[in-house]
Amino acid sequence: KPVILWFRKDLRLDDNKALAAAHLSGRPIIPLYINEPEAAGTGPLGAAQAWWLHHSLEALDRSLHERQGRLVLASGEPLEVLRAIIGNSGAEAVFWNRRYDPAGISIDIRIKHELEKQAIEAQSFGGQLLHEPSRLVTGGGTPYRVYTPFWRALENASEPEPPLEAPSKLQLAQKLPASERLGSWKLLPMKPNWAGDFDDLWIPGEAGAREKLRAFLEDALDGYRENRDYPAKQATSMLSPHLALGEISPTRIWDATRGLSKRVPAADLVHFRKEIAWREFSYHLLFHFPRLASVNWNDRFDGFEWRNDGEDFDAWRRGMTGYPIVDAGMRQLWRHGWMHNRVRMIVASFLIKDLMVDWRRGEAWFRDTLVDADPANNAASWQWVAGSGADASPFFRIFNPVLQGETFDPDGDYVRTHVPELRGLDAKYIHRPFEAPKSVLDGAGVALGETYPKPIVDHASARNRALAAYKATRDAA
Ligand code: FAD
Repeated sequence: KPVILWFRKDLRLDDNKALAAAHLSGRPIIPLYINEPEAAGTGPLGAAQAWWLHHSLEALDRSLHERQGRLVLASGEPLEVLRAIIGNSGAEAVFWNRRYDPAGISIDIRIKHELEKQAIEAQSFGGQLLHEPSRLVTGGGTPYRVYTPFWRALENASEPEPPLEAPSKLQLAQKLPASERLGSWKLLPMKPNWAGDFDDLWIPGEAGAREKLRAFLEDALDGYRENRDYPAKQATSMLSPHLALGEISPTRIWDATRGLSKRVPAADLVHFRKEIAWREFSYHLLFHFPRLASVNWNDRFDGFEWRNDGEDFDAWRRGMTGYPIVDAGMRQLWRHGWMHNRVRMIVASFLIKDLMVDWRRGEAWFRDTLVDADPANNAASWQWVAGSGADASPFFRIFNPVLQGETFDPDGDYVRTHVPELRGLDAKYIHRPFEAPKSVLDGAGVALGETYPKPIVDHASARNRALAAYKATRDAA
């Protein structure tokens, strides 16, 4: 009797515990992916990640073909889909890897309960995280709310189990259920095809993920701690979209950094692991505080008087604020579905503090446009910048977009790549075109207010406005 292997955010054969267990059980496998209706709580699948999902499912299907199988695609309410396949195939078990977002958890609990009522074995496994959030807790049994002690606990916890290799052969069910056509799910953009440049950067699927990991360990891990803050250097792993859909496991990444200490300085290695730990921390926060994406962790912020000006928000989304580093980041996001971490912090600070737009609007825009949109990392990071989060940057720490640009993009190369209309400006003015003499602007072919916008706010006044609003909230609390 077959076992249904239900893929979700684990679109890989490597280090896949549910797959390994199904394989070991000796039962024929039915590999299944369900296009679930939008689940309350997680928000809709973003458009950029839908693009990724399409290609990732194709890649998973190819890997299964290499093992004489194929992926079964079905849409609908998951319990109904599973019941229909069980009814037709005689399957007596469903295996899956756990997810940790609130909607995913509640769906899975209900399905497990219902399947067990029908005497169908429902087994779930870990694999999306290094450690189960219910296990890695303080001595008092409460969740960690501060990153540093969390990191220490993670460092001192027993090493995650070594990753499992993908089985080279799979016993797949002889008669697989009919599959829907991936194209009918309409995950790809139609007209206009705004994802045209995504191919420059990304190869969705587990082979692409392994290649990104290999290249990063070989070329960029050495020096990571220093270089990771400079967006023009391309010094980070770019593994985030692969992690978001589980094409590679954090355990595989963790394991790959083991044994590199002879070649790579310890500071770089540890720093990289600390970033993987930030992801883990965000997931633990989401697990214990399921409303992380919609509710201020610190309720003092509930009374904050957002301006939420529609035109400002629009200028931010389109990368037309007049602050080059902000505009470069927002255009990189649109063009490649991804943005460098330092720049994410700058654009988020600008939206929340300079423009006083509610962080939740920024979170939603990122969710729709990032290929790595992740319910835990996105929500925790936005709350971190807003100052409302668990272990957040204080609100009064407001990034100056000009100084941030000059510090982290000193030659202006990042801006020149993404804001071509400023390409002719030299480094002295590239982050402050509004201070350049007219002769310099003319020489560079820049006409402020025509070819490139004037700043939509004056940073110094905007900063004071934000601090006054914050003080009013604090005084009222
Ligand atoms: P690397 O530097 O190579 O890091 C390796 C991995 O560690 C990343 O892939 C990621 O999984 C994890 N990581 C790194 N930095 C962080 C961090 N600050 N917080 C949590 N995990 C981290 N990351 C997402 O994966 N999805 C999101 O939706 C997301 N939204 C963000 C929104 C804002 C406002 C900010 C400031 C950050 C956000 N991040 C998000 C975190 C971070 O920017 C990205 O994980 C990182 O830029 C991905 O690039 P990389 O894979 O090259 O990172």
